[in-house]
Amino acid sequence: MKKLFVCACIIAIGLAAPLAALASPPATPKAERLKADVEKLVSFGTRHTLSSATDPKRGIGAARKWAQSKFVKIAKACNGCLQTELLERNMSGPRIPNGVNIVDVLAIKPGKMGWDHVIIIAGHIDSRVSDVMDFTKDAPGASDDGSGSALVIEAARIMSQQPQNGATIVFALLSGEEQGLRGGRLLAETAKERGWKVSAKLNNDIVGGTLGTDGRKVDNVVRVFSEGIRASEDLAGQMARRNSGVEDDGPSRSLMRFADKLAAQAYPEVTLDVFGVRRPDRFARGGDHLPALGLGFPAIR
Ligand SMILES: [Zn+2]
Repeated sequence: MKKLFVCACIIAIGLAAPLAALASPPATPKAERLKADVEKLVSFGTRHTLSSATDPKRGIGAARKWAQSKFVKIAKACNGCLQTELLERNMSGPRIPNGVNIVDVLAIKPGKMGWDHVIIIAGHIDSRVSDVMDFTKDAPGASDDGSGSALVIEAARIMSQQPQNGATIVFALLSGEEQGLRGGRLLAETAKERGWKVSAKLNNDIVGGTLGTDGRKVDNVVRVFSEGIRASEDLAGQMARRNSGVEDDGPSRSLMRFADKLAAQAYPEVTLDVFGVRRPDRFARGGDHLPALGLGFPAIR
């Protein structure tokens, strides 16, 4: 798991780095730091979106506070190169019957192109047990998605050490994924409202897992999911795409190909194959990249 975890981290950072046109290749992620951050996230007992927002030790509020403090610490170490921000919106509906404040924790590294070239590196900080409405039981969520959250923090740490360059990078720890992709929607809608030109959203949800449901252990392949038919395109747009023969060349699919090329070329010392899955997500499942795709932003899982 350790190796693939570092590899997944390299892919996220490696994808963002050339897109952002960084001056020099970023440092290698540290497995020990990733592990420590996952363990810290597990220590909050549950990070269910409906768990306590105010308990200092247990629940999603404590986890978010810790995550924000990590971003603040990283920002201090780079003389304020990152700005932290909380996105908040009260939401209710299925899986949130009594309403709850959805809070996304962001760290933003401004680039020279400002909001005209934005890359989002995201994971979701909330967790759950099998019963999605049970917000009291322990829900450690080490894999889902403590792993992705640790990756986002590690990416922020490493990329904060790079000089400012082209892209503005948004490191995002999202809430409410398990309650219906709430935090992903909040971030995508905020990006749209603020006029961000999102070049890529990289959703890291369960990363570094090596043991398949069939019991096979695979530690040299990372799956990258991308949409074919664009969620943001109307029927006329889809027909025009088909008639031009470019139904396999949308922005999300191109981003996936870029990830594949990058893994093969930019990091030859890492034995890692990108397995491009030509669908938006796993069968009948979803993730926080879907709201971004719905608004027309290139996004992959
Ligand atoms: Zn997840």
